[in-house]
Amino acid sequence: MTLLTIDKQNWTQGLAAAADHYRLFGPVKEKDQHRFKALEKGQLPDLDLVNTRLSPKDLVFPQSEIMLTYSLDESREDHHIMKEAHTDHAPRAVVGMRPCDARAIQLVKLNFDTPDVKDPYWLKAYEATTFIGMACDTPLSTCFCTSAGCGPYNAEGLDILMMDRGGTYLAKIFTEKGKAFADTAGWNQATPEAAEAFVAAKEAAEAKMVSTISTDNLADTDLLDLHGAPFWDDIAFACLNCGTCTFTCPTCWCFDIQDEVQGKSGVRMKNWDSCMFPIFTVHTTGHNPRDTKTQRVRQRFMHKLKYFVDKYQTGIMCVGCGRCVRQCPVNIDIRRVCELMNSFKPADACVAQG
Ligand code: SF4
Ligand code: SF4
Repeated sequence: MTLLTIDKQNWTQGLAAAADHYRLFGPVKEKDQHRFKALEKGQLPDLDLVNTRLSPKDLVFPQSEIMLTYSLDESREDHHIMKEAHTDHAPRAVVGMRPCDARAIQLVKLNFDTPDVKDPYWLKAYEATTFIGMACDTPLSTCFCTSAGCGPYNAEGLDILMMDRGGTYLAKIFTEKGKAFADTAGWNQATPEAAEAFVAAKEAAEAKMVSTISTDNLADTDLLDLHGAPFWDDIAFACLNCGTCTFTCPTCWCFDIQDEVQGKSGVRMKNWDSCMFPIFTVHTTGHNPRDTKTQRVRQRFMHKLKYFVDKYQTGIMCVGCGRCVRQCPVNIDIRRVCELMNSFKPADACVAQG
């Protein structure tokens, strides 16, 4: 690991130099929200934010992605032959992502990059990307990353982690990808003594965190007991099944594949989907194994806080970014649900049912 100092003039010049070799993405302000977008020539990422409305997961896992193309025109020799769609996998860098979003991509990777199955679309985009993070010194009241396996200075999944010191940035370079980006940008002012500044800033940022969750009992609580717990109807009562929580979540990875044909040209597309949508699990027979709102809400929380915990044994499928808490239109709060699940004792169910 290397420590560098980047003064803010070199920051601007460095990004301009890097833009000749990388497509740059970063947070950009649109009206009163920030979102990750491709940066125009000379445009700087706006790092004066806490978090974006949507996470940058779509830079690796686009909301809609054409996988294959085909023609139905029988006068063509190649009619009805599926061809891989052209996708640009030239080097790119996402500049200014938060540590929670970087860890989230590592959790999503568990699904798209397994020993048995590798999603080539996700992996090629992931491998083409350099992840440059900005540590978070002003967590929101809805952030709970420190109790969700992450933290405002967490480096997991990042090639470079930066912190803001007013007139300069300090940067920790962790990987070859990170070093290549820094070299391209001309950032080379080594500052080993800055390690202490990182430690102090990390402790200060963590001390500002006001929201936490407890997850210590989730793994040991029986799955079927939790599934049958009496609180699911209560949690689901207000839910609109709008899907906002899943679309804004950096760790949600569900997608659907469908064909779209216009005239004689067809594409096979991968689109984000949501377990909160009523037709998410409809079978071709018309049967829907999750046809009630309670079943769908339970699925979302059981997946994040129990099934994932049991399957991967790396903690919960949530990084504590707080987006779903802030954006749910009816204030369904994963922190409260986690508390109910973590403190649940099967005897509670007997009392409730008795
Ligand atoms: S954002 Fe809230 S209302 Fe919408 S689906 Fe999620 S939990 Fe339900
Ligand atoms: S479940 Fe909510 S708090 Fe957790 S990572 Fe997803 S959006 Fe963020």
